[in-house]
Amino acid sequence: MPIDATQPYDADNIFAKILRGEIPNDTVYEDDHVLAFNDINPQAPTHVLVIPKGDYVSWDDFSARASDSEIAHFVRTVGAIARKLGLVEPGYRLLANIGGHGHQEVGHLHVHLFGGKPLGPMLAKGL
Ligand code: 5GP
Repeated sequence: MPIDATQPYDADNIFAKILRGEIPNDTVYEDDHVLAFNDINPQAPTHVLVIPKGDYVSWDDFSARASDSEIAHFVRTVGAIARKLGLVEPGYRLLANIGGHGHQEVGHLHVHLFGGKPLGPMLAKGL
């Protein structure tokens, strides 16, 4: 069930619980501001979720409220994780779902990194 990305941050969301250590995760990378872990239901051979540790509902919330340094660090770290995973030369996909039409299911900003095989066209047709 997609979330409403205009609603305030819900500290009971599953990624908040992962950040608090209440739910385990398969960590790929961690620093003081960012956590990256394997998706529990991978859609590609590599499917990593990258999240900021701050309480941001979505990309919309993050881009509106985060500081320039938080945004710069997050963007640089997503790129560094993709390089560390060897995704750049074969290519990969970066995706952030926002709100209802974006089918965002978890109300804590996360970027999906997909790779490890040819990923095909961006979206299934069906306008
Ligand atoms: P969204 O649709 O919000 O962009 O993506 C949410 C993603 O979180 C999905 O790909 C889903 O498989 C993943 N996910 C949901 N719950 C968990 C969990 O407890 N652990 C991990 N590692 N991934 C999760």
